Parts: sequence; C-alpha cells; structure tokens
Amino acid sequence: MDRENRYKRNQRKKLYRRRRIFALILAGVFVAGIILFVKALKSSPNQAEENLEATGLDQQNQSVQYVENLIKNNNFLDLGMNLEKKIENENYYALRSFRQQRIVDHAMGRITRQNNLKKEVFLTFDDGPSSESTGRVLDILKENHIKATFFVVGANAEYYPEVLKRIYNEGHSIGIHTYDHNYRKIYSSPDALQEDIENCKKTLKSILGEDFETNLYRFPGGSYRENKEIFVDRIQSMGYVYFDWNALNGDAEGKNPSESYLINRFNETRSGYNVVLSLMHDTNAKTNTISSLPEIIRQLKEEGYTFKGLGDIN
Ligand SMILES: [Zn+2]
Repeated sequence: MDRENRYKRNQRKKLYRRRRIFALILAGVFVAGIILFVKALKSSPNQAEENLEATGLDQQNQSVQYVENLIKNNNFLDLGMNLEKKIENENYYALRSFRQQRIVDHAMGRITRQNNLKKEVFLTFDDGPSSESTGRVLDILKENHIKATFFVVGANAEYYPEVLKRIYNEGHSIGIHTYDHNYRKIYSSPDALQEDIENCKKTLKSILGEDFETNLYRFPGGSYRENKEIFVDRIQSMGYVYFDWNALNGDAEGKNPSESYLINRFNETRSGYNVVLSLMHDTNAKTNTISSLPEIIRQLKEEGYTFKGLGDIN
C-alpha cells in the first residue's frame, strides 16, 4: 500500500513538473511574441512620419514661442491690432514660411498621414488675370463667401490691372507665377528665373502699390523637372515658398475639356487628401472651368472642407 502511494505521488510530481515546464514554455513564447509585436510596430513606416511630424511640431512650437516673446517685448499687447502689419520682423515671416511649407508638405503627400489633418482646400488659379474668366471666378468665390489664390502672369496684369486690383481688394491671395510664361527663357538659368520673378513683382507693385508683398510662388509648369534644385535654391534664397499641387481639374489636358471631365478629374486627383491644393486656370479659353466650379465648391462644402488662400496660412 505504502509503495503504491509513493508510486502515485511520484507520478503526480512528474505530471506537475511537466505542466510547469509546459507553462514556462508557453509564457516564454507569449513574451517573445509581445516583444516581436512591439518591434514590428516601432519599425512600421508610420514611425518615420510620426518622427517627422513631431520634429515639425517642435520647431513650430519653438517659433511660436519666439514670436510670442517678441510681441511681449515690443509691447504689442493690443490683440485687436493686425499683428502681421505691425510686426516688421523677419522672424515673423520665417514662421509664416515654415507653416506654409508644412501645408505644402502635407498637400504634396510628403507627410502622408492625411486623415489626421483638418479638411482644408486651397483653390489656385494660374495664368490670369484675364478679361472674362477671372471676373467670373471672383463672382463665384464671392457668392460662396470663400477665398482662393491667384498665381498671376505679370504681362496679363499689365493688360487687366483693374482685374488684378479686384482680386486684391476682395481679399484673395496673390502669388507670383511669371512675367511672360516663356519657359525657354525662364529656365535658361537661375539668374533668368530671378529676373522673370522680379519683373513680375515690379509689375504687381506698380498696380497694387509699393506696399504689396507676397512670398507665394508657383513655377511655370510646376517644379517637376530635372535639375530643379538650382531653381528651387534660387527662389528660396529670394524668400519665396513654392507651391505645386496635389489635385487638378485637368483643364490643361485639352483645349476646353467638358464640365463632367473636369469634375471627375478633380475628384479623382483629390481623393485621399484632407488638405487639397488644386490647380485650375482662369484664362478666357477655359469656360468649362468656370461653369463646373460651383459644383466642385458645393461638393467640397458638403464634405466639410474649409476654403483658404495660401496667404492665410497662419
Ligand atoms: Zn502657367
């Protein structure tokens, strides 16, 4: 009897030991699994973006702090004042450029976590002002109480100075596009590009007054070209921020594409973007750009987008 009991006890002990070992192995596998999972999370592509976001926000917060101190020290305490006009300080403009660059980065998909961003749309119109189309675009924007950006051609502004003044007086953003849109000349060298930009700026100042300023720039044809760095370096050293686009209505993809083509193209190219920076043209030939614009605006409004000019990024 005693022997039998001892045998049973031994068997039970063995069984418990086996169970313990099994449990230990299970726990080991579980812990290893968690470690691998955490590592996989850390090395996911989102991490790089998050780091980028974090650095950007840090820089932005530092800049904001810096400017706030500046305001304090200069006793600009009247919050009702238009600080932009009051603070004649390069750092304020540096901050602006930084924020603008962030919008460009978002819009260009260089930071791809679009779903975290507020829904904003920056409609931009190139190559005006024109005698017919620009005015109609302005009417539509006014009816909808929204702002947009016009990248203008200096030579056209000389032809239609009143239209340029209307853009300005109605509170839209004005950016430099070119003086005469002559690709071969503009892109022959950075010096030629600079001369083109300065000519355009001079023209705008002659119409809008010497106080007119802008740091918004759009490369004719966009910045998508080989050896673009030397041109990008030049415009940045001149203090400009350049804007390409992440959406378009395709009005340059034919003489005057149909309304439905333009609306579909716009929706197709903007899909997936919370920050939409779109390219359209306000030249007279593009009549369907005008007639399809109200529907495009209606859809964006319905989806909860806010409309802004690129000069209003603060
Ligand atoms: Zn153009």
